[in-house]
Amino acid sequence: MKLLQLAEHFERLDGLTSRNAMVDELARLFKSIESPEEMREVVYLTEGILLPPFASTEIGISEQFMSRAIAQAAGKSVEHVKELYRDTGDYGLTAEKLITWPGEGITVHQAYNALLDIAKTGGRGSIESKVEGLARLIHRISKKEARYLLRVPMGKLRLGVGDPTIMDGLACAYDGRRNLRPVIENAYNLCADMGLVAGILLSEGPERLKDFRVLLGSPIRVELAERAESIDDIVRRLSRCAVEPKYDGFRCQVHKNGDEIIIFTRNLEDATHMFPEFVEAARSIVKAETAIFEGEAVSFNPKSGKFHPFQVTVQRKRKHLVEAKEKELPLRLMAFDCLFADGLEMLYQPYTRRREALLKLLGEGNTIAPTDALVTDSAAEIEGFFNKCLNAGFEGIMAKSLISPYMAGRRTFDWIKFKRNYAKEMRDTADCAIVGYFAGRGKRAQWGIGSLLCAVYNSEKDRFETITKVATGLTDKDWKDMKETLDAARVKEKPARVESVYKPEAWVEPRYVTEILFDEITRSPSHTAGRDGGRTGYALRFPRIITPIRADKKAEDATTVQEIKELFAMQHQATQ
Ligand code: AMP
Repeated sequence: MKLLQLAEHFERLDGLTSRNAMVDELARLFKSIESPEEMREVVYLTEGILLPPFASTEIGISEQFMSRAIAQAAGKSVEHVKELYRDTGDYGLTAEKLITWPGEGITVHQAYNALLDIAKTGGRGSIESKVEGLARLIHRISKKEARYLLRVPMGKLRLGVGDPTIMDGLACAYDGRRNLRPVIENAYNLCADMGLVAGILLSEGPERLKDFRVLLGSPIRVELAERAESIDDIVRRLSRCAVEPKYDGFRCQVHKNGDEIIIFTRNLEDATHMFPEFVEAARSIVKAETAIFEGEAVSFNPKSGKFHPFQVTVQRKRKHLVEAKEKELPLRLMAFDCLFADGLEMLYQPYTRRREALLKLLGEGNTIAPTDALVTDSAAEIEGFFNKCLNAGFEGIMAKSLISPYMAGRRTFDWIKFKRNYAKEMRDTADCAIVGYFAGRGKRAQWGIGSLLCAVYNSEKDRFETITKVATGLTDKDWKDMKETLDAARVKEKPARVESVYKPEAWVEPRYVTEILFDEITRSPSHTAGRDGGRTGYALRFPRIITPIRADKKAEDATTVQEIKELFAMQHQATQ
């Protein structure tokens, strides 16, 4: 496929707002692809990435490289390019304005590989060769091709299609309907690699996808929990169940293949380098040649042995602090699930079996240890466990069905989180995608940022719907850092997947998640969350930020509209 053809599909997608029309357009695009390799590349490009997030290759093309490369290709000064960029806010459009040549008609494969090579180039002298490589590539492509291709390495493709829409597009490309979506989704949940799944669908068909196996080294998309309104509600839904403390740290998925250990975070990025102590412990205590298990990494006070809250653990995430913090903030991995052991796919087994496998997997040691677990059907016993957990400083409890398998990539009532008595006191937290910011008043005016426009995720519609404007909870330094972070994802116009009544001073591509504490959910005409075609959405009352950026979550991991509706219903019941 020629790059120009792909750019034309992207251009059409760009102009669409109806999800069905987007699915049809994607289906047409996927149908015209001939080889699995090309399918993989086109799917990644459509996702706006060059490789799946868990690939450990650093993909790095900074704004500076891009400005220099465009300048070099167009024979203009870097200053001129930067000025145009200030106007357009987009490197695709900037290059488009400067390109005067027709392009060589290169293929998607050629463009993708050139870009990947450039992005991967590292080491001495790499800056010059990156800029030159990129300039050469720009010289080979036309205006329209540049508009879309150059947005990819900058993380700003913004076609308005996320994973659910791409999966529907693939299913439709296959048989004109969406019947295959569950098969595609299941395989995707097992490997988190849409390009791989799409390639297999093309080369080997749906039958092969149906028996897709777990791959060591490719993260399994994580199972998520629903909320319960009371302990009685937990017992009603699960009867006899296991209850575990709910630790407040980073979720880690550990893959062990002999001596090779890879640790993925909640958003499925490879974060092995951040957890040297887990790598060592996994090598020495895990009693299986191959294994995949999950746990929550929490820092603790080495003197008292008490766990710290997330806001303290998060300090370990800063790359340069790993070594310095290793002693000061040691981590423990509280392991709660076993998905694969010695070649066996444990994730299809019920909780009880997986728990047995987990206990068998982990040898003696403190660095990686299994969570406590109480198996009971008594609300009184759960209540006792819950109170003990709160006294020990945990967030709450996780109740788990004894009979259900691990539901990769799904949020179900097989896992139920219970933090406080929601029925008595609503205070809870929501993870929101930041979609824009407003300039501040007073002191903040000089920084150009004073409040954030935040959204929850509507996974059915693949849209980010706003739920709050938040201006409290950050220190002066946090605001400055926040502006710097958000400016890297700033875009000129409302991002395609964002639904908003507000028009903030700056729109931001949904990429960063902030954790917000709130008192209550209210109905509001100013927000679009859960509007469903009506005029009122949901909003958070008394929002304050408690974690500026949840680096372990991506925008699609934000709290969903469905969860907000459930919380609203619970709160309503509590006040009746
Ligand atoms: P939330 O992020 O509030 O939806 O809660 C789900 C998260 O709780 C999971 O993604 C885990 O990171 C974390 N968690 C803490 N303790 C446990 C546990 N015992 N079992 C499962 N997840 C846990």
